[in-house]
Amino acid sequence: MLEVKSITKRYGRITAVSGVSFCCHRNETVGLLGVNGAGKTTLLNIVSGCMPPTSGSVLIAGEDLMKQPTLCRRNLGYLPERPPLYDEMTVEEYLAFVCRLREVVGRDIPNHVRNIMELCSLTDVKKRLLGHLSKGYRQRAGIAQALCGDPSLLILDEPTVGLDPVQTVEMRELIRKLGEDHTILFSSHNLSEVQSLCHRICIVHHGRILKEDTLKGKHGEGERVILFSAMGDYDTVLKTVRELPELKRLNLKPVNHDGFVEGEATVADGKDSEIRLFRLMAAKDLPLRYLSPREDSLESVFLHATQEAGEI
Ligand code: ATP
Repeated sequence: MLEVKSITKRYGRITAVSGVSFCCHRNETVGLLGVNGAGKTTLLNIVSGCMPPTSGSVLIAGEDLMKQPTLCRRNLGYLPERPPLYDEMTVEEYLAFVCRLREVVGRDIPNHVRNIMELCSLTDVKKRLLGHLSKGYRQRAGIAQALCGDPSLLILDEPTVGLDPVQTVEMRELIRKLGEDHTILFSSHNLSEVQSLCHRICIVHHGRILKEDTLKGKHGEGERVILFSAMGDYDTVLKTVRELPELKRLNLKPVNHDGFVEGEATVADGKDSEIRLFRLMAAKDLPLRYLSPREDSLESVFLHATQEAGEI
């Protein structure tokens, strides 16, 4: 649905985005995750056709955004960081106005606007001026304008930023519902939000994509990590863990003040490695404080990727 090819954007001497490529498949929700200044907004402005890249190209449903901007924009809806709302219009007037701007043809506009307001829970405030709405409702109106004309691709720049916890939950529910029949690319600082909504994440750092992840963890394909803490001397623990036939890598910390050695054993993915390691430790009389497979959180994936690339 969306293919971003080697996008670079320079603002004078600042390179905000550098050689970024990624794609979003139909009806996939992809999160762009990055700290402030990572380049997310610049990337989304380019992908939505609001700003040209210095080099590179963007394809939307196979069409080149730079060569066929009108055609491509019909297929995409964009919620920028600051929603483009006219405060002196009512919600209903504004959405009808956006439909005319987007040249929505061949459909009953009042009915289309009614459906969008229903979907975005705006019906109760349809006669209110946008300037009088709370932040949460303004954000919904921002998403509603992105839905005018029924685009298949939605690009949302930090859709939950500045919302209170109740509004945040409602906005996430709306994004989840839209994700059932739309391709969504959205940016966020919020790791748990990205984890709960996305099929895939792209970690953006200093204008580059450091990592694309399906949130399955940071260790390699076909391997997993066992964390353990065993009481004993360093060399005995080292020799014991090395007896594990499927061991691929081992990180051991020096004995701590309690007399425990903590370690991370990376093993080939298979069955019962924890049980085998437990038996090996027991046979050498090495008491265990814990021994368990590591579940990689998104925090650890993010920190690992950004730390590998230099300071955050
Ligand atoms: P945030 O999460 O704070 O919105 P971001 O990840 O969206 O950050 P961008 O706003 O894309 O990051 O900014 C990327 C870099 O480009 C930053 O160093 C920023 O200062 C710089 N930048 C952005 N817009 C401009 C501009 N118009 N002129 C010059 N530099 C810019």
